Amino acid sequence: MKILQDKVAIVTGAGSGIGRSVALAYAREGAKVVVSDMDEESGLETVRLITDAGGDSFFFKCDVSSASENEALVWATIEKYGALHIACNNAGIGGAMAPTGMYAIDAWDKVIAVNLSGVFYGVRYQIPAMLNSGGGVIVNMASILGNVGFANSPAYVAAKHGVIGLTKNIALEYGTKGIRANAVGPAFIKTPLLKDLDEATMEWLVGRHPIGRMGESDEVAELVLWLSSPKASFVTGAYYPADGGYLAQ
Ligand code: NAP
Repeated sequence: MKILQDKVAIVTGAGSGIGRSVALAYAREGAKVVVSDMDEESGLETVRLITDAGGDSFFFKCDVSSASENEALVWATIEKYGALHIACNNAGIGGAMAPTGMYAIDAWDKVIAVNLSGVFYGVRYQIPAMLNSGGGVIVNMASILGNVGFANSPAYVAAKHGVIGLTKNIALEYGTKGIRANAVGPAFIKTPLLKDLDEATMEWLVGRHPIGRMGESDEVAELVLWLSSPKASFVTGAYYPADGGYLAQ
């Protein structure tokens, strides 16, 4: 039997990068996957990849920075599959880069809205649905930058630190009610999120990873899959890097 057989999962930002890899890994292991993204075309492509491989999935458009769209996503999941057992709150943006004393206010607001409030709105509606489903698992996508700073990315760093704190709180509040919550911290992963970085910056970033390369989306997805599965039944309130040694230095 597959490790997520008949479980119902939501993945946000599942049209691209890490989110798509997580959605495919969940489906491979037997979950019914609600693929959610702001971008309909890429989300539908993820659904196609899942259904072509024999999986069960549908797309639901959701901008995670909207509380009401997060609520609608959970309702659509319950309507179609009757339960919610797993949520990977993955959608996120890199945001503008500038030192804190010059950081544009609207750029700050945007990153916090998507990367921090977006995760809160998600779990706000996922948790009641999971309680009604007999329990569940939440995996929030943080970053190594939820653990250390990164010059010129104050909003991203603050949001990702916030995601880890929020995840700990969920673990404290719902541990005895059958919900586990953990955060994952990828280092730099080759996805479209890094598309605006020039070659010299990419090379410099590679050098920051003791393993000598950036990561692949699938390498993060395997960790998310494990945390989402019964194999991690005693793991909650924790932060797990998938970082090629970045945080070891
Ligand atoms: P990605 O390839 O850009 O994928 C992110 C997906 O989320 C895209 O499909 C994007 O749509 C979507 N999205 C953006 N804003 C959204 C919103 N408001 N509501 C719903 N969906 C939205 O990025 P990724 O690298 O896979 O990143 C996924 C997560 O991993 C993020 O939380 C990111 O912070 C985190 N992470 C990434 C790295 C890295 O190096 N790649 C490292 C550490 C952590 P559009 O394409 O239309 O924008």
